[in-house]
Amino acid sequence: MALVTNLGFPRIGAKRELKRAVEGYWQGDLAAEALQEAARALRLRHWRLQREAGVDLPPSNDFSLYDQVLDAAFCVDAVPERYRALADADPLAGYFALARGHQRGGLDLRALEMTKWFDTNYHYLVPELHAGQRFRLRDDKPVREYLEAKAAGIETRPVLIGPVTLLWLSKTTDGSDRFDLLDALLPVYAELLRRLHDAGAGWVQVDEPVLVLDLDARVRDAYARAYAALAQGPRPQLLLATYFGALGDNLPLAAGLPVDTAHETALDEEFRGWLAFARQKLEELRLLADALADEGAVADALAQARARVESRRRSPRVHRPEVAARLQGLAEVLAQRQSPYPRRAELQQEALGLPPFPTTTIGSFPQTHEVRQARARHRAGKLSDSDYRAFLEAETERCVRIQEEIGLDVLVHGEFERNDMVEYFGEQLDGFAFTRNGWVQSYGSRCVKPPVIYGDVARPAPMTVRWSAYAQSLTQRPMKGMLTGPVTILQWSFVRDDQPRAETCRQIALALRDEVQDLEAAGIRAIQIDEPALREGLPLRRADWAAYLDWAVESFRLSAAGVRDETQIHTHMCYSEFNDIIEAVAAMDADVISIETSRSRMELLDAFVRFRYPNGIGPGVYDIHSPRVPDAAEMLELLQKACAVIPPAQLWVNPDCGLKTRAWPETRAALEAMVAAARVLRAQAAA
Ligand code: GLN
Ligand code: ZN
Repeated sequence: MALVTNLGFPRIGAKRELKRAVEGYWQGDLAAEALQEAARALRLRHWRLQREAGVDLPPSNDFSLYDQVLDAAFCVDAVPERYRALADADPLAGYFALARGHQRGGLDLRALEMTKWFDTNYHYLVPELHAGQRFRLRDDKPVREYLEAKAAGIETRPVLIGPVTLLWLSKTTDGSDRFDLLDALLPVYAELLRRLHDAGAGWVQVDEPVLVLDLDARVRDAYARAYAALAQGPRPQLLLATYFGALGDNLPLAAGLPVDTAHETALDEEFRGWLAFARQKLEELRLLADALADEGAVADALAQARARVESRRRSPRVHRPEVAARLQGLAEVLAQRQSPYPRRAELQQEALGLPPFPTTTIGSFPQTHEVRQARARHRAGKLSDSDYRAFLEAETERCVRIQEEIGLDVLVHGEFERNDMVEYFGEQLDGFAFTRNGWVQSYGSRCVKPPVIYGDVARPAPMTVRWSAYAQSLTQRPMKGMLTGPVTILQWSFVRDDQPRAETCRQIALALRDEVQDLEAAGIRAIQIDEPALREGLPLRRADWAAYLDWAVESFRLSAAGVRDETQIHTHMCYSEFNDIIEAVAAMDADVISIETSRSRMELLDAFVRFRYPNGIGPGVYDIHSPRVPDAAEMLELLQKACAVIPPAQLWVNPDCGLKTRAWPETRAALEAMVAAARVLRAQAAA
């Protein structure tokens, strides 16, 4: 009899209960005990649900209040010096300080750097290590949660991030080799395994997803040493798990797959049958296990599954001849701007007349409670279309005025009309469908709801032109149009598997190309096409990279290249690893790129410097993931660092990413400081 098990389960809760509780605690509306109680209730509910779905041995310690890598670092006491006093006095406050920074009671702590988890849009916190680092068992969360399930009568398999993966995901702040710390780290793992064994755990799942990457000899050697050492001593049986790659990708532990189509009443029956979320996947696993035992007993269920596959293959909802025809005739010149960058830069400077070190933002401004409430009321039919529009216009106008007051050079409209940067476009494109509760964790308490691309993509009408044109009508300064790029729309959706991803991506690119041209025709002189997901789409194995980058870059260029030389194309990417893709980024040929650099203190610029990236570049000067407000001096220092390595004429000044998760007071203060820093830099450059 096969044993049914899964590697992890979404932790946010079907209705994002965890997000609510955590944010309530941050705002001071919920006591620490109440937060812990809410978390405990969710864990219990999820264990029971997995048991009911037929899972024999569900995982534990796959839950986290913020991030499982942070949990692992905290557990082995990889806590940098600056947080120690707080973490000792108040572990929960210390834990969240590592995640989000901490500005209270005279303390001013920067958060850990954040970066993407393998090829997903989940972000984890990067542990900071240094030579001579000591480890100890600071927190026995894996044991606690195992015992918690056991007390509820549920035997679980605790999940640990393996020691090699933990080191691999970490960075050292002093340039030392992090794998030198392996011998210091292993005794803590041994102790943890012994404690789990003593608590009664028969199995422990050790996640080593790094095993699906191309590894050098040093890392392979670390694996050999680590597992030889951990095999010693009393311990549970170890289940080594990898995912994302060739070794099986059914239930990624951390990205937290969406939940439960049982709630999805908005999707019609036929369509719902084509989907499988976390709970259905568990049922499928049970079915496979039963089939191994006795195929006859599950014949009906298997026949039903086959019928669902057939209905999709034939549906006219999926195949649109006119979209296929447009792709067929695609000429290569369509992906080419009229002139090379230096010529475009001249013409754009004439058209826009920007000062040196132009200031701008990445697009979104605070999505306040009022904005979200108005959207919810509009959706529920409680706010009329015209009242909702009037509300959004007022928000947009206020945002434009504030940007003028702050003194920004290239403005944005603020994206108040958007729920999410992919969903907003998906809702207006043919070929997309939406779930009500398909939440996926992005970082900390942030979740997104990916659309489902099930059919050929087409744009029935302009999507953003109204809002951009309205915002431009309010101001003399250039208003940047704001689009999500084809690769990101693809990457952050659940994508049909009945044609190559490249083809779906080109379909999206053509729809966006039409939008870009419509924006230009409406008088928009700068257009940003965000591609924050370009890097995460990179296949895990190097051998597959070139083919992916080819079609990804081509898709971006297809969407961007339909405009005149005078129209400035921006792109934005927020992550930390450019070395691998810098040539592709240059091949995208955007006039300006903004990137995330502040958490890594401009280290990220290295790739751009080494490659001599030729076009405009805005290295983010402050971290928008944290409510902390940096002062002008701090940003000036980062900018000077950038100036030392990038020709000043190429530099732009902007935050790391969009501001939608922030509140207005901190946003305003930070942007004022940013503009002040740019002004000092201009004065210094002039002198
Ligand atoms: N324009 C988007 C925003 O500002 C970009 C977000 C992103 O890159 N993740 O919100
Ligand atoms: Zn971003």
